[in-house]
Amino acid sequence: MTRRAVPGPVGERPNEPSIFERRESVVRSYCRRLDCVLDTAEGSLVRDITGREYLDFVAGAGSLNYGHNDPDMRAALIAHLEHGGISHSLDMFSSAKGAFLTTFESLVLLPRGMDHRVQFTGPTGANAVEAALKLARKVTGRTNVIAFTNGFHGMSQGALAVTGNRHHRGSPQNPLYGVTRMPYDGYLGDSVDTADLLDRMLHDPSSGLDAPAAILLETVQGEGGLNVASSAWLRRIAELARTSGALLVVDDVQAGCGRTGTFFSFEPFDIVPDLVVLAKSISGYGLPMALLLIRPEYDVWLPGEHNGTFRGNVHAFVTARVALEKFWSTVDFSADVARRSQMLARQLAGVGDLVPGASVKGRGMMCGIDVGSGRRAETVVRRCFAEGLMLETAGSYDQVVKLLPPLTTPDKVLHEGLDILLSVIRAAASGHEWRSSSGPVTA
Ligand SMILES: *Cc1c(COP(=O)(O)O)cnc(C)c1O
Repeated sequence: MTRRAVPGPVGERPNEPSIFERRESVVRSYCRRLDCVLDTAEGSLVRDITGREYLDFVAGAGSLNYGHNDPDMRAALIAHLEHGGISHSLDMFSSAKGAFLTTFESLVLLPRGMDHRVQFTGPTGANAVEAALKLARKVTGRTNVIAFTNGFHGMSQGALAVTGNRHHRGSPQNPLYGVTRMPYDGYLGDSVDTADLLDRMLHDPSSGLDAPAAILLETVQGEGGLNVASSAWLRRIAELARTSGALLVVDDVQAGCGRTGTFFSFEPFDIVPDLVVLAKSISGYGLPMALLLIRPEYDVWLPGEHNGTFRGNVHAFVTARVALEKFWSTVDFSADVARRSQMLARQLAGVGDLVPGASVKGRGMMCGIDVGSGRRAETVVRRCFAEGLMLETAGSYDQVVKLLPPLTTPDKVLHEGLDILLSVIRAAASGHEWRSSSGPVTA
């Protein structure tokens, strides 16, 4: 990390290591590329302590679909605090939880014909994934879970077992059990339908594939490189789950809450998962909150069987309710996300054309460009940051430059961000360094 010339918020002198460098564990990650000390934020803009502004197209890795500090959510939260609203209540009933559930039922579940129950898990996506895995195993009495290449489901051991990424899987130095990995849609190229392989293996009594408790997938793989599953593939996998007696689990932690245009990412495909995992943007305000939706016949937990101190963050219930009321009472928001998704796709196709071999990835407002190597993507992200645009990377080799702007980003601001990306890629792609890094494309 660079030494900071500006005194830090805790008064470091210039050229001294900051409090973060001195004391924060080296496990820190995003701050290595996006190296600034954040102070305030509004909508799609964040400001650091020097007053410098950035367009935030990382949006808390998809936790800020409605942008930073939405004024209506903030007002409701302040009102709750000032009224002496309870802030922690274990899983006891509270007015805030009741109001959230009522709104979630009327605006999300009922209109989609879903009779799912809502389980509040610990406040992270990983904890809700753990709950889904435990429940699917309990319901079926089976151990094996089918998960897919490049899937990402969180950092706890159960969630890591279903995650593909080797860098993360290596950390526990402990076997990760009970999962069979299968190739995701498109993993073997366009000419191979990987659902055929799963179909064959599930039905061949000597394939060696143990009967699955669950088939777990993301409809768009967020961390895994913005890989998109086709409608036909998803429907087939759903059917295979049904015929093999496995629960279909959709991890909608990143692709849900409107990121692909509909509230759930699976809505366009007429599939209804048995279990759905939501986290990241469900609170609407960047507050920790996660939940698991369960078809009622599978809600077989014993009381407290998946317990936890922070299930149900009351402040998150308050902002989550406002988010639903504000953005999901009508179809307008969804239509607007769809419109902007098309605009993004068109513009990114233009950017992709600047880079030989590059491809546009993703669906809806989770999209990006595979620039062919992790080094190139790193160059793009660093230079964009220097120009005031925050981006991340994704994919097996971190070779995908990823855009997750808040869904509420005004068109003008989206264009500003894309212009920065375009000019950075144009400059980088003409540089010597860029061409010389094109050895093994995926190194
Ligand atoms: C971020 C993410 C998780 C894990 O959520 P945490 O809150 O970081 O534990 C799980 N699944 C998907 C698809 C994610 O993007």
